[in-house]
Amino acid sequence: MINKDVCVGKSRFGKGLFAKNDIKKDGVVLVFEGKARSLEDFRFISKYDENHSVQIGNNKWLVISDDSKFINHSCNPNCGIRGTIKIVAMVNIRKGEELTFDYAMSEDSEWSMKCRCGSKGCRKIIKGYSFLPAKIKQKYRGYISGWLDKKS
Ligand SMILES: [Zn+2]
Repeated sequence: MINKDVCVGKSRFGKGLFAKNDIKKDGVVLVFEGKARSLEDFRFISKYDENHSVQIGNNKWLVISDDSKFINHSCNPNCGIRGTIKIVAMVNIRKGEELTFDYAMSEDSEWSMKCRCGSKGCRKIIKGYSFLPAKIKQKYRGYISGWLDKKS
């Protein structure tokens, strides 16, 4: 479920989520909705669904079924995670800005992805949380998925 201050729009990478109004730091941007799946289930789901899922446990992903699936990754994000399925603003966000989080804030598997986010400090290849440089882990404190918090 996306917050009323958030809408789906056109980004450089297809669809994205944008702020319809100013959003204050720590304001809730969205709550992911969907079905929980394990790695074994991924053989039976489409590539599209696989690309629109978020890791919520050691062997647990949520296949996102609502518009919140359109939030894009950035290596210099303005949002982070609270709990495991809630996305909140990490900074004050102005109306019209695209909302992004770092996929490494929730993911920690064998997964990797080429990144063309173009932001300052883009890592080019993004991998799970364990692979993040210590400096970035520090910056993301309080904004990474609860299941990773428990791990570290
Ligand atoms: Zn990047």
